[in-house]
Amino acid sequence: MKTLDNFPYSHVLVLGLAKSGTAAARLLLQSGKSVRVNDKKASDDGNAVYELKSMGAEVITGSHPLSVLDGIEIVIKNPGIPYDNPVLVEAVNRDIPIITEIEIAGNLVESSIIGITGSNGKTTTTTLTKEMLNKSNQSAKIAGNIGYVATEVAKTLEKDEKMVLELSSFQLMGVKTFKPKIAVLLNIFEAHLDYHKTFENYKRAKCNVFANQSDDDYLIYNADDPVVIEAVVQAKSVKVPFSLKKQHDDGAWVDATSIYFKHEKIIDRSNIALVGAHNLENILAAICAAKLSGASNVGIQEVLTNFSSVKHRLQFVENIDGRLFYNDSKATNILASQKALSSFKQPTILLAGGLDRGNEFDDLLPYLNNVKGVILFGETKEKLKRTATDAGIEFILTADDMDQAVKRAYSISERDDVILLSPACASWDQYRTFEERGDMFIQAVHTLM
Ligand code: ADP
Repeated sequence: MKTLDNFPYSHVLVLGLAKSGTAAARLLLQSGKSVRVNDKKASDDGNAVYELKSMGAEVITGSHPLSVLDGIEIVIKNPGIPYDNPVLVEAVNRDIPIITEIEIAGNLVESSIIGITGSNGKTTTTTLTKEMLNKSNQSAKIAGNIGYVATEVAKTLEKDEKMVLELSSFQLMGVKTFKPKIAVLLNIFEAHLDYHKTFENYKRAKCNVFANQSDDDYLIYNADDPVVIEAVVQAKSVKVPFSLKKQHDDGAWVDATSIYFKHEKIIDRSNIALVGAHNLENILAAICAAKLSGASNVGIQEVLTNFSSVKHRLQFVENIDGRLFYNDSKATNILASQKALSSFKQPTILLAGGLDRGNEFDDLLPYLNNVKGVILFGETKEKLKRTATDAGIEFILTADDMDQAVKRAYSISERDDVILLSPACASWDQYRTFEERGDMFIQAVHTLM
């Protein structure tokens, strides 16, 4: 069993008993540390509490008394807990360092870590990179924000097995010494300001992906993103750019027909299964990470010719009588739906709407040129109706549920049309998660068949 060897703290507070907190506490206990766990919720995960108590943890649930910090040398916090939480404010007052579980996961990995971050495209790039390594006969596992707790995965890694780690800004904010061998910075857009308060703080968190790298590490970065270009100036690692706009002899780039890494052609663009210019960026980033890790061109080509989507991200669902159905339920904001709409040249019927966050949808207007019909639902349907009217869209319909939306979309469609669920809104007004919304869409499409 792997334990923490280089973790110089004996008395640890784990704040937040979610999956990653439980895994961190378990690992610390197995490593002989004294562990206190604190969660505001009155322990709803009874099993975890029972297990941690039986392993020797002190578990305090139901509130966040400041006394949980007494005698503590370091806090490992759940990424979701904001820094204005009173315990964290008090920890700062008492000069107690605060980290996230990523920091201790990094401590366990003997092979290299590929750490991938950015405002958008993390999951796609993480998945592509891991697949490219696997198809090149290298063992690698995905972990982190993608849904597998990093410490749990790290414990299971063989000596030469790589970890491809999706990193959110929340996870990266608590980084002190963590460093990936290869860091990827995909893009930086304004996001999560409710948590980070300022764009500067958000950028700083993203830059933590390379902050501890040295000159024998690599930083793959988007050379088309001005915010990223400015941010990476401070990096000490070897910089490897990717670009859709310019030839970069030290990184990945494209021309009208092919994709290249440095001076080598990797693949014809016409052989790539993933649609969308944004995905081309993700592909370039993944190629850089895979090539720097020693992946083969054959392995990379095999992935790119077969890999058509990650579920709920521009996922091709079915061709019914020449109508192509795509599920982009993960598009929970306008920017993501812009990317989806730009990916198709065919006449498109857009299914959109959801949670109302107070914004208007005028920013969608320039992307609606190919849209011949919209089917709108959820809290934002009236706002979206105004935008669709301004765009002069021929068919503007509403629907009460996904089944009705899909049927109505089909009823106004013709052969060769795209029928695209890309809601531009979060799902929580009608569904528990964007995954549930996407699954309902897929089910409705299959019912239609
Ligand atoms: P993340 O894990 O960062 O949320 P995903 O790979 O899950 O990213 O993609 C989520 C959505 O973000 C996609 O449906 C797409 O609309 C958009 N997106 C993906 N990659 C990019 C990119 N490189 N640049 C801009 N937008 C992107």
